[in-house]
Amino acid sequence: MTPTAAMQATSPASTLFPQTPSKGRVYNFSAGPACMPECVLEQIREELIDCRGGGIGLLELSHRGALYEALNNEAEAACRKAAGVGSDYAVFFMPGGATVQFGLLPLNFVGEGETATYIDTSIWSYKAYTEAARCRNVSVAFDGRAIKYARVPKKGEFAEPAGAKYLLYCQNNTVEGTTFWAPPETTLPLIGDATSDIFSRPWDFTKHAMVLAAGQKNLGASGASLIIARKDFIASATTKLPTILRFEDHANAGSRLNTPPTFAVRVMGLMAEWTLKVGGPTAIAKNNAYKANLIWDAVDNSGGFYSWPAEKWCRSHLNVCFKTPKADLDAKFVADAESHGLFGLLGHREAGGMRASIYNAFPVHGCELLAQFMGDFAKKNG
Ligand SMILES: *Cc1c(COP(=O)(O)O)cnc(C)c1O
Repeated sequence: MTPTAAMQATSPASTLFPQTPSKGRVYNFSAGPACMPECVLEQIREELIDCRGGGIGLLELSHRGALYEALNNEAEAACRKAAGVGSDYAVFFMPGGATVQFGLLPLNFVGEGETATYIDTSIWSYKAYTEAARCRNVSVAFDGRAIKYARVPKKGEFAEPAGAKYLLYCQNNTVEGTTFWAPPETTLPLIGDATSDIFSRPWDFTKHAMVLAAGQKNLGASGASLIIARKDFIASATTKLPTILRFEDHANAGSRLNTPPTFAVRVMGLMAEWTLKVGGPTAIAKNNAYKANLIWDAVDNSGGFYSWPAEKWCRSHLNVCFKTPKADLDAKFVADAESHGLFGLLGHREAGGMRASIYNAFPVHGCELLAQFMGDFAKKNG
């Protein structure tokens, strides 16, 4: 599967998207926590002192008060709208990042003598699998590690053990820069880790029993997660768990089972509203395609100076990875790029090379500058 026409734009979708950072700020290619739209940062700054004119700042609001309740409900509603799910799905926030959810999944859904299975296409799906394997009987449905995470499985190229309680996959591989261009087709309850690609493209959430996304890539705040889950799936979880560990209890409590990460929830809500304001996942996909293709083209048009082992048909539009012929040139690239205002390009320690993380809010001009810089660097050092 390849990107659809809507995702292969040749020009920026809209000037609503961030173009350049304001004075004093740099292009931040960090993999996460990652750059945010400045309009959202400015609104947060304002709300920190006085949220909506009530004389109380965002961090100081009671989570049981009417104002916070409104902020929470608006956040859930914006995420629901961006995801396009109906009332058969619960949309709620949980404390803890993706790794916390990795631990909760087997506790909720896999009992004695039961099993779940994992499509392993990145260190994140591997972590989800190894965390589950500590306490439950789980299996690997597709072994991407064996091929150094160079691609995702093709249609049907993974095991579907009968009776498995769920099949987990990582929608976008943040480390090697690969992605699923459509959810895997399966009859098992499907769980997607959307931490690095949430709302980055039109996505059929209804093919999933659950999608989870920690906030720090496209939703602004680390340490909390957005969960979009079919109500009957989370209701199927064992009740022999403390409520704080049960997805359904968080959903039923309207994301306020105990004192929630109120700041992170507000930030996720603002990011979801920003997502809708710029045109939603469809417009974002076009903008992301434009940005990513600038950099992937710079790799492909470098006469072999830049390369990357991941297969082209599953290249990510959110994490563009490349390396030069030598590790010491990679180090020089990262240092020289910084002196040009391009920060955070050092690749993940497991994959090496460079990585440009260009999530939904990453400014367009930063990608144009990086592509230009790559050409200049190759000429000087090739
Ligand atoms: C960044 C990332 C994670 C890590 O999440 P934590 O919040 O640090 O636990 C998990 N999954 C994916 C796909 C990621 O990109």
